[in-house]
Amino acid sequence: MKECVFQRCIIPQCRATMDVSETAFRCPRCGNLLDVDYEWDRLPLPRSLAEWENTWSQRSHPLNFSGVWRFRALFPFAPENQVVTIGEGQTLCLRSDAVAAYVGLRPGRLFLQYEGLNPSGSFKDNGMTAAFTHARLTGASRAACASTGNTSASLALYCAASGQMRGIIFIGSGKISYGKLSQALEHGALTIQIAGDFDDALRRVQDVSRQLGIYLVNSINPFRLEGQKTIMYRVLEALRWQPPDWIVVPGGNLGNVSSFGKAFAELYQLGLLRQLPRLAVINAAGANTFYELYEHRGLRWNGGQYDDNLITGYMRELDVNQRRADTLASAIEINRPVNLPKALRALEICGGVVREVTDQEILDAKAQVGAGGLGCEPASAASVAGLRRLVTEGIIQPEETVVCILTGHVLKDPDATVAYHSDDRNLFDQKLGRRGVRRATYANRAVQVPNDLAEIIKAIELYA
Ligand SMILES: *Cc1c(COP(=O)(O)O)cnc(C)c1O
Ligand SMILES: [Zn+2]
Repeated sequence: MKECVFQRCIIPQCRATMDVSETAFRCPRCGNLLDVDYEWDRLPLPRSLAEWENTWSQRSHPLNFSGVWRFRALFPFAPENQVVTIGEGQTLCLRSDAVAAYVGLRPGRLFLQYEGLNPSGSFKDNGMTAAFTHARLTGASRAACASTGNTSASLALYCAASGQMRGIIFIGSGKISYGKLSQALEHGALTIQIAGDFDDALRRVQDVSRQLGIYLVNSINPFRLEGQKTIMYRVLEALRWQPPDWIVVPGGNLGNVSSFGKAFAELYQLGLLRQLPRLAVINAAGANTFYELYEHRGLRWNGGQYDDNLITGYMRELDVNQRRADTLASAIEINRPVNLPKALRALEICGGVVREVTDQEILDAKAQVGAGGLGCEPASAASVAGLRRLVTEGIIQPEETVVCILTGHVLKDPDATVAYHSDDRNLFDQKLGRRGVRRATYANRAVQVPNDLAEIIKAIELYA
């Protein structure tokens, strides 16, 4: 198997290859990102996607129980006995007519892919199981990441559950939600809080990992993205292998959109899918690098010859103006997305758009997702808020089929939720108001009642 798998520079004009066991995750020739690549014609593959449904009947097989590894034929980089799995990827793609009405789609046209159901509560587990497996293949004993929270929660959980690795996480100061921080601490990861934000932490962790030979699990790691491809396989499966018209996903470090694009490009290349969905990436307005570069400055993949000056120029502007990413959606509070080139490639393959949404729109959409029966954290709701904008703009039509990715669980960031629903004006202002949130249109206020039976009954009759 090993000789059919390698790492390859994403730039078509370079195409340098490396052994699967390398862990530098940068092209030695040109310094760009790497893909995990396969010699598909030497690997066994099903003739149709529907054949994967058979693995559902083999759930006592640990690899088929995992919603990630049952698709392992589409990312065959590891021998089966090396796989580290804790049952990730058991997620749902649910039709939501309530949220469809909110965003302006016809009933039956909107599906929510609920990745909050993963063991650590976010989609990151899809990638972590793959990165962990690769780490094990390389003989690593320590793994590190910089994180806005969910990557560290996932890393900490996989370290603790597998008992094979020491986890080291870098977080920016004061940026991480308590739900996520509590997971890192509870699962015993070494937690290093540096004075800086996520972008600073990501630079540091790369230096430290290189110097100390620690395995890096940030989404610069191409093996993580292999696991995240399975989110799209599960979406297709839920839709009986009919691709939707659109996939809408929040954009932070742009790992998800990159892996989705790779998943679809490969399925197309393998003749397993004839038509590709379009991709919409949604930035928070306070961390909108991708939106700015793609929609306003015309940055395109351009067959690999993208204009790097546009990117470096924009980053210099950020520095000069001392602009820091700032949004309540902390999981996408990132100004220097590491997977930018791969995301450009994904949008070229699938025909994509990028939009930005305000924290106000994010929180309103989040409340609508919650009222519709699925809970998510703020960053996840950016997908729904972005979809609403795209329908309003007429880019997405009411009768098109759309899947929004709900990337993380509602319990990840309870502070934002409580502040939104609270009638405590101080709490609201302190948590949300300073981010430009003015209204809580869909607030579900707690009702204050004296400790008196008659008053309690009166309140219930009044409100329910
Ligand atoms: C990591 C994360 C994102 C951003 O995903 P990228 O792949 O970095 O673009 C969005 N939402 C949640 C909940 C996350 O944890
Ligand atoms: Zn290269």
